[in-house]
Amino acid sequence: MSKNQQQEIHTLLEKPSKIVLVGHQNPDGDAIGSALGLSHYLCQFGHHVTVIVPNDFPSFLKWLPQASDILVYDTQASECDSCFHEADIVFILDFNAPHRAGLVSKALENFQGVKVMIDHHQQPSDYADYVITDTAMSSTCEMVYHFIASKNPDVISPEIANCLYLGIMTDTGSFKFSITTSTTHRVVATLIDKGAASTAIHEKVYDTNRLKSLQLLGRALQNLKIVSTQRTAYITLSQQDLDDCDYQKGDTEGIVNYALSLQNVIFAAIFIEQKDENLVKISLRSKGDFDVNSFSRKYFDGGGHKNAAGGKSLRSLEATENYFLKVLASHQKELSQ
Ligand code: 5GP
Ligand code: MN
Repeated sequence: MSKNQQQEIHTLLEKPSKIVLVGHQNPDGDAIGSALGLSHYLCQFGHHVTVIVPNDFPSFLKWLPQASDILVYDTQASECDSCFHEADIVFILDFNAPHRAGLVSKALENFQGVKVMIDHHQQPSDYADYVITDTAMSSTCEMVYHFIASKNPDVISPEIANCLYLGIMTDTGSFKFSITTSTTHRVVATLIDKGAASTAIHEKVYDTNRLKSLQLLGRALQNLKIVSTQRTAYITLSQQDLDDCDYQKGDTEGIVNYALSLQNVIFAAIFIEQKDENLVKISLRSKGDFDVNSFSRKYFDGGGHKNAAGGKSLRSLEATENYFLKVLASHQKELSQ
């Protein structure tokens, strides 16, 4: 049974324990930032902490303090399994359904200790013993801040501040998405006071382009199509596009936002062919009331938030595009309002 009681979790943490922190498949800034931020906090109290992610994460996150200690299940399965085996507590961060843990799902399902979930996505499943969930929160990092501050904000070190600042920044599109509240800004201000190096974090995350990654952006913009009747713009990137531009993890991050930046566009999508996984990875973004979480759950086996969601398609890239156009037409009314 789930209990939404931060205080009980703080009590649980009074005794030094072995703790595993898990982020979701294809970890982003919020997953890595919340896991490392919480890890730095827990280590201060004598816990033995390991951060585990299902697969590798982009290099623009690798400079974060202790990022090199993160275990990647994909390549370090047996080490990860023994951490789960020995752990008393597992924190589930920035996801709310077992399948989002990818390769780590099985270890999570088999884990017999206490599970604590901290997450801000829609429609959480009820699979943790303690659940802190709030879909109105900008990011899991903001939730981790509130969790720590509810006990004692004085313990926020520059390491914690840098990690949490990064995740709030990436999940809010640098504090501009509608999910950003005045409280988010106050949290961010406090994190700067606690030592978050805001300008350096922006530079380390956003100013990391290679010539090839900018050329991939160019390719994406050339492939962009507009469906003006449905106020939609979408981008396709084939495996060939990725290969031609020497694709590296993280290179497609944020490209979908260019489609959403067009005048009169309220719904944007990017379809990225991934031949090694035999699927097309999809990111969906919207402005206003159009709910891409529902759209992705219904058509693309995914989910997320109202204005930002992910999903996948097992069809070919071309068939995925045709399917998208077909289902898009059935939403004509909502999109043209
Ligand atoms: P992105 O498009 O950047 O991969 O993901 C956008 C948001 O949707 C992120 O918050 C991400 O965690 C979430 N998300 C991405 N893919 C999925 C999915 O398959 N299922 C669910 N529930 N959420 C997803
Ligand atoms: Mn998040």
